Amino acid sequence: MVPPSNIVQHFVKRSNRNKQILKMSVGLVTLSILVITYSQYLLHNHCDALECGNDFRSKRQVIETTFMSKSEKTSAASESSESTSSVRHPTSTLGAGTSSEGELDIPVEFDSPLMPPKQSQELAKWLQKMMMDLNLNRADPTPMEEGSKEYLFPCAHDDYKISESLTKVNPTEGQTLDGQGWVVFPEDSLCYSLKILKVTGQFNDGKLSGSAKVDFTDGSWMRGNFVKGVLHGLVRKFWCKFGDCEYFESKKWSVPEHLKEISWYRNGVRTGFAWEFLRGGGMMAGEVNEIGELSGPEVSYLYPDKYTMLVGKAIKGQFQSGRESRLSGIEYHNEIIAVPLHLKAQGPLFVREVSNKTHMASNDNSLHQSDPYEKQFVSVQDSTVRGSGRGVFLKKDVPMGMIIGFYNGVRMSDFESKIRKADRKSPYRMDNDWAKSKQILNIPEGFREPHQYNATLGHLINHGQKPNAWYAMIDHPRFGFIRSVVTKQALKAGEEIFCDYGFLKQYAQSDEMFKTILEVGKMIHGSDNNADFTKDGEEYHDQAELKRPADKSELSSLVERSVGAAIYRNKAGGPRIIELNMGKPPLTYRQFIKIVSEMKPPPVPVPALSSRMLGNATSPISEDHDERYGVPSLAELGFDTKNLPPSAWHGGETEALSRLERHLERKAWVASFGRPKMTPQSLLASQTGLSPYLRFGCLSTRLFYHALGDLFRKIRKEEPPLSLYGQLLWREFFYTAATKNPNFDRMYGNPICVQIPWDKNPEALAKWANGSTGFPWIDGIMTQLRQEGWIHHLARHAVACFLTRGDLWISWEEGMKVFDELLLDADWSVNAGTWMWLSCSSFFQQFFHLYCPVRFGRKADPNGDYIRRYLPVLKNFPTRYIHEPWTAPEQVQKAAKCIIGKD
Ligand SMILES: Cc1cc2nc3c(=O)[nH]c(=O)nc-3n(C[C@H](O)[C@H](O)[C@H](O)COP(=O)(O)OP(=O)(O)OC[C@H]3O[C@@H](n4cnc5c(N)ncnc54)[C@H](O)[C@@H]3O)c2cc1C
Repeated sequence: MVPPSNIVQHFVKRSNRNKQILKMSVGLVTLSILVITYSQYLLHNHCDALECGNDFRSKRQVIETTFMSKSEKTSAASESSESTSSVRHPTSTLGAGTSSEGELDIPVEFDSPLMPPKQSQELAKWLQKMMMDLNLNRADPTPMEEGSKEYLFPCAHDDYKISESLTKVNPTEGQTLDGQGWVVFPEDSLCYSLKILKVTGQFNDGKLSGSAKVDFTDGSWMRGNFVKGVLHGLVRKFWCKFGDCEYFESKKWSVPEHLKEISWYRNGVRTGFAWEFLRGGGMMAGEVNEIGELSGPEVSYLYPDKYTMLVGKAIKGQFQSGRESRLSGIEYHNEIIAVPLHLKAQGPLFVREVSNKTHMASNDNSLHQSDPYEKQFVSVQDSTVRGSGRGVFLKKDVPMGMIIGFYNGVRMSDFESKIRKADRKSPYRMDNDWAKSKQILNIPEGFREPHQYNATLGHLINHGQKPNAWYAMIDHPRFGFIRSVVTKQALKAGEEIFCDYGFLKQYAQSDEMFKTILEVGKMIHGSDNNADFTKDGEEYHDQAELKRPADKSELSSLVERSVGAAIYRNKAGGPRIIELNMGKPPLTYRQFIKIVSEMKPPPVPVPALSSRMLGNATSPISEDHDERYGVPSLAELGFDTKNLPPSAWHGGETEALSRLERHLERKAWVASFGRPKMTPQSLLASQTGLSPYLRFGCLSTRLFYHALGDLFRKIRKEEPPLSLYGQLLWREFFYTAATKNPNFDRMYGNPICVQIPWDKNPEALAKWANGSTGFPWIDGIMTQLRQEGWIHHLARHAVACFLTRGDLWISWEEGMKVFDELLLDADWSVNAGTWMWLSCSSFFQQFFHLYCPVRFGRKADPNGDYIRRYLPVLKNFPTRYIHEPWTAPEQVQKAAKCIIGKD
């Protein structure tokens, strides 16, 4: 058990943070304007969601093969181009003036020569110099301000090792070092927790001076110029080819030799113009803000050719949106930092739009907004391989090792990708992680043809026995981490690109899939009409948005199935509540309830199919039916099941229905319309919990709804009040709020979410997620979540508050992702909605109501039984100390066989 101080000491006091949120509420005025704009957007983009079945057993969905092709893009006239005029980066005017977000791909005319032009060669030379000339020692010319933050200040009291060349001048007063040498910080030191492993340089009176090297715990390193221990001048950071060096055992990949950052520091703060080098070859360059982040309206993203650019907005070091441009030269800041000059940025706006499980692009325009880099290199034409349909061809000669295209797709965890057959069997599955095969990219049905999606073309490349390209990875300005396509040899214009699908074999999860890939012979013909395209209600929303049939009459030929869906729907399948609220989702629960109270109750569920209803009809089932369509076992999914304890939750409809019965048996609760009283027992997985069953469609929401009402009528002989359905309505509230808001699960671009400058602290996040913060109440909850896949509502409150506004000040998006991975009932809109709620990012701004990680725990679990159950290391602690074991006297810790900070 570690004391919690390690994790909380770096964080700014809560009260200050909460004041910060308060300030942000001013932003709510702006937010409401956004909401109005957004609701207008909703009015004009009425939900096309297909009607959801009212019972999960009743209908079968057939994948559409009949969706009509999209009409050809309208070609808009090219804007008057001033493409030959050079623009100095920091003062450039963006755009040609008429392009706006969402417009179609207007041709942009730039000369894009094959070989890097002079200016990009000059840039390459400068980068080379920055990389090779490791002793480049440039101090900031201004005198350093007294009181500036020393780089190693927090580590002054750490217990560290030093090289023999260093001397401790005055060891009694805090180990003042002198001389040239190194200092290494041990694992339990503060510096190590700040990721600093070793510092090598000149110490004068304990302070670094001149050029020094800092090695970080992830294997990367930095060389910077110090004045009296303060960073004050040029700083360069280096990392491994694929980012963190610690991932790889191979020496080839674990030596940090790639530039990560070139910056200028003044008085310990990153300032002026900076460069950041992204994985896969792209670069960002621009001015940093007052807290040293690459942020602002005029940041450049340079593609790997060091010539093609997007110029536009970045927030907190992440490119957000920009227009196309070209490098036209470089000039120098401080005589050392190169600043890229560029032609006037023009054409349509490219907006960052990272896919998720179901969402690939938010609208038609972005589906068809060709990547400005890729389109210079490749186009789609008839393949040279007979029977292969089309392929991808080079537009110009390219050298070996050149990135020529990109492979984007919906993204999901490896596990998620195995749950739905459509994903498991998709020939478009692509492992999206260099080091850990955790994430899978996939191109869903409806996006595989160029007329359906052509923002990237990588998935249209054919398999070849002699591949001339392979898949690497890139941090793309628009799509985030995706695959890039890289040439294996020098190639000529007109040649067809081939990749080796065998390369995918290591990612293919079964031989069957690999065979499918080879049989199909190319990635683009993979439609599996037998596939069971089960969707849950949430994904359904998105899919319906993604796949718009050109002719609605064709819908009538489609049979749809949906599970876990919302209960109030209009005839077209969209939420009826939105219709009644003037086309926009109500954003307060009170308004939501007001509308619901004026509506008819939801329809009753259709009865379950009985053999009588089916008459004598039989359905032929092939012998391998179970093998092909059965639910895979954990072992089949690749899990080691040997030492697994029995599952706290059993899936299936039968279980769901008996739980429903037990749930209803709690007549007292039904009759008093309230939540059951909270006891320590409530924290454990109960036999009446329904959320995973509702989420997976084992239990119909309408069945639940009407069963509640029927019971109430029976007992009380009167019509039930709306509050009887409270929990179901909360669920419905979030479903409604999330409708037509593809950014509901993120802060940026989400019109209902307050923009909060959350901290980035991967270490603290990992400690929270793994249940090792040092607070037993928080760690117990996170352990239960990890072991059982479910935690009580109030336990969710406790850990969500702790992660966000309560203690760690880490974005709710991070917590939501962990919940999404671990919760059995993880539900896209309820999860994102409640996280926004808990972090005061939307719906609710009661800033000063916080859950204390000690007192709340003590109230919910006064005897500490819950903690003992999930953190057995603390089981011998007396109840008095169990919520704050670090306060226990040493002899108590010894008696409990758990020394805090050690065990
Ligand atoms: C940070 C956070 C994240 C959450 N993420 C999810 C999630 O991904 N999926 C999810 O179903 N619930 C989520 N909840 C809501 C709630 O915690 C769970 O629905 C509840 O704990 C499930 O337990 P139960 O089935 O015993 O619920 P009961 O109290 O028996 O309620 C019955 C059903 O009503 C619904 N429900 C109950 N409370 C809520 C609520 N506050 N909001 C929305 N629906 C509710 C659930 O479907 C639940 O199964 C989250 C809450 C928080 C604070």
